[in-house]
Amino acid sequence: MTEPPPSSMARYGVWYVLALILLLSIFQYYSAMQQSVEISYSEFRHLVQIKGVDDLVVSTDSITGSLLPKGVDELAKERKKPDLPQTLEKQFDKKKPIFSAVRLEDQDLVKLLAKDNISYRAVQEKTWLTSLLAWVFPFLLLIGIWVYFFRKIGSGAGGLMTVGKSKAKVYVQDETKVTFQDVAGVEEAEEELKEIIEFLKTPAKFQVLGGNLPKGVLLVGPPGTGKTLLARAVAGEAGVPFMSLSGSDFVEMFVGVGAARVRDLFATAQEKAPCIIFIDELDAIGKARGLSPMGGPEERENTLNQLLSEMDGFDTRKGVIIMAATNRPEILDPALIRPGRFDRHILVDRPSLKGREDILKIHTRNIKISPEANLHTLAARTPGMVGSDLANIVNEAALLAARRNKSSVEMDDFEAAIDRVVAGLEKRNRVMNPREKEIVAYHETGHALVAEALPTTDRVHRVSIIPRGIGALGYTMQLPTEDRYLMTKTELEDRMAVMMGGRVAEELTFNEISTGAQNDLYRATDIARSMVREYGMSEHLGPITFERERRPLFLDTMLSPGSKDYSEATALEIDQEVAALLNRAHQRAKDVLEKDREVLEKAAKILLEKEVLEGEELREILNSHGQEQTA
Ligand code: ADP
Ligand code: MG
Ligand code: ZN
Repeated sequence: MTEPPPSSMARYGVWYVLALILLLSIFQYYSAMQQSVEISYSEFRHLVQIKGVDDLVVSTDSITGSLLPKGVDELAKERKKPDLPQTLEKQFDKKKPIFSAVRLEDQDLVKLLAKDNISYRAVQEKTWLTSLLAWVFPFLLLIGIWVYFFRKIGSGAGGLMTVGKSKAKVYVQDETKVTFQDVAGVEEAEEELKEIIEFLKTPAKFQVLGGNLPKGVLLVGPPGTGKTLLARAVAGEAGVPFMSLSGSDFVEMFVGVGAARVRDLFATAQEKAPCIIFIDELDAIGKARGLSPMGGPEERENTLNQLLSEMDGFDTRKGVIIMAATNRPEILDPALIRPGRFDRHILVDRPSLKGREDILKIHTRNIKISPEANLHTLAARTPGMVGSDLANIVNEAALLAARRNKSSVEMDDFEAAIDRVVAGLEKRNRVMNPREKEIVAYHETGHALVAEALPTTDRVHRVSIIPRGIGALGYTMQLPTEDRYLMTKTELEDRMAVMMGGRVAEELTFNEISTGAQNDLYRATDIARSMVREYGMSEHLGPITFERERRPLFLDTMLSPGSKDYSEATALEIDQEVAALLNRAHQRAKDVLEKDREVLEKAAKILLEKEVLEGEELREILNSHGQEQTA
């Protein structure tokens, strides 16, 4: 919060100079007007003829000189202004009145002047002041306009003069009072962050051991789940400064500014160590290079490259941890998530039933709620909602209660607030209706049961019907028991069967299929196609690969059609083989699930109720069911 006050002299100096020059020139213009009588060229010639002028100064485009009394009288007569001599006398205060006329192209002017013996001299037009006005002034005006527009554009960046100076706000500890007490429902993420806190508290301990600490921690999760909050809580828990910047702050109009900011941010962090650098919305700068449809923003790439090189040249042991948050990890540049950069990913997922209750508890801490209000019931009514939604609900409810002149927030205020927030969310397609929820529960249970039944697949880690991301309404998470580099044909086939499990469960239970399996089918098809085309795993086609080296996409489309190096007949066979593999996987899933419909029912019902099933719980259901069967 300690941003230095912008130096006003530096910022407004240009404006002061411009205003001064403008005033000067106006003054000059008016005083010149005051000191001379403007006459036309014809009047001037006439006055020359009657010898009414003297001491002429002839320049390239004007003539000035003094008006003799004879001339003044003549002018008064010509202009039919009898009081002209008096006015001029007053204005010029006993000096000879000065006139000025615009000069016309006049061949015999000189002859005329010589004839009448009038003294005259010629001057070069430009005095220093006129040249200043003629050249410097427009130039300054241009600069002024330029400055003005860029300040408008870069106003978010604090103007031209502060460009490149990082806007990282240094939150000193007493300002970041956020701790883990203020975060709920993301216990796993908290657990993973504890090591980081430990390190920030006593970097020396880790320096001695010389262990390899994570440099970058990436918080991944849907919007509103508390990523920003969690990052600040880490700083709060460790009691270190927290320098936070949003990815979009780096993206600037000016070339090189984003990169300068990154440099600046890291330099400041080194001074303040131990501390946390937090880059919110990393995707704004971290988008994969060359992903932009315009092919344009080199600037973002510069920033990204700077960030990468700063991270590389960074010694973690000094006690600086770089944290970042994104809700779109899939579009990040692969270079960003390589080891040594943001290599530790922490999932900040949508909260479970219990998590939602805890979050509601946190947000109702400072609110008077009536004793009969039940936060558990509220949590049960808000599946799929994230922390910010719940905070919003509590706030709405408090406002409603106040409007209804109540002394505490009651259940119906909460209910009304939920309805209101849900209505907003439904537009964004994030809350499922009960029917959808049921379908998703059976679908996910289907995946999980097939995964548990087949020998080569990874054990189920967790099944959830809490929607996450944009596409997925639920998920079944399997944890590999070991690192794999090779996969056998059986394993691939088992994997495909698991993917089919979701759809098969829907078929069996509802006699109907939904669009929910689209991603499963996509992935299964991908596997099947690779098996046939790349790995030569099709019995029918034999050990042969049809995969050419991948060319850039545009080349491919330019060269095809007709660039396939196999015949149409083979293409048909490939398609048939892929379809056969998929059908077989479907049948295998069906065999598994049909064998024991009851366990599907039972597990799905429990999942529907609890929203999340840990792998252990699922296996318990399976075991107890097996015992019931044999008993
Ligand atoms: P994100 O950065 O993931 O989009 P934020 O951290 O900005 O989400 O969360 C916005 C607000 O929602 C927080 O300030 C907090 O009030 C509330 N909130 C979100 N998640 C949680 C949570 N897990 N526990 C408590 N409050 C939360
Ligand atoms: Mg955020
Ligand atoms: Zn699925």
